[in-house]
Amino acid sequence: MTSAFSLHPSIDNGIQAGADGFSGGTLACHCAQNPIKVKVDSQSAYNHACGCTKCWKPKGAMFSIAAVVPRTKLRVIEHAEKLTVIDPKATIQRHACSQCGVHMYGRIENTAHPLYGFDFIHTELSSEKGWSAPQFAAFVSSVIESGADPAMMGAVRARLKALGLEPYDCLSPELMDMIATHIAKASGALKS
Ligand SMILES: [Zn+2]
Ligand SMILES: [Zn+2]
Repeated sequence: MTSAFSLHPSIDNGIQAGADGFSGGTLACHCAQNPIKVKVDSQSAYNHACGCTKCWKPKGAMFSIAAVVPRTKLRVIEHAEKLTVIDPKATIQRHACSQCGVHMYGRIENTAHPLYGFDFIHTELSSEKGWSAPQFAAFVSSVIESGADPAMMGAVRARLKALGLEPYDCLSPELMDMIATHIAKASGALKS
């Protein structure tokens, strides 16, 4: 599959299936010397392409590829001193390498948040194969905010669909329902 634009290098030539029984790996930043290393003792979940302007993406890519893992299964094992939080006030605190800029993990500290307990990671930072495959594309319209030509959006959505990644302009219906359910239980609109 060739095209004038790159969605993301890890999906431009098709989606790699995840492996049954895969139990995690080590993420490394892009520094040639003393890279930060983060060990994840879990398969990833809800892997997806994200078009928002906040997620880290490699140079030239239109989308980020992001997944979640339980925060209890993630730990920094090397060069934690190089980590910096991009925006301490953001809902998702993206812990990035202060030298190469790669985001190592995004963490939610608000215990009332529907996605509290999950850390966001980019599985492409790991050399291990078998991470869960991307399942959908989120915040697709937001790529325009990063400079994508609005006239390309038909082609972008068509390519995502051809890859089997249903394009959404928010999160997937499953995740949006999960978040709304959490909010409804918190407000009392739904009795749990
Ligand atoms: Zn780095
Ligand atoms: Zn994003």
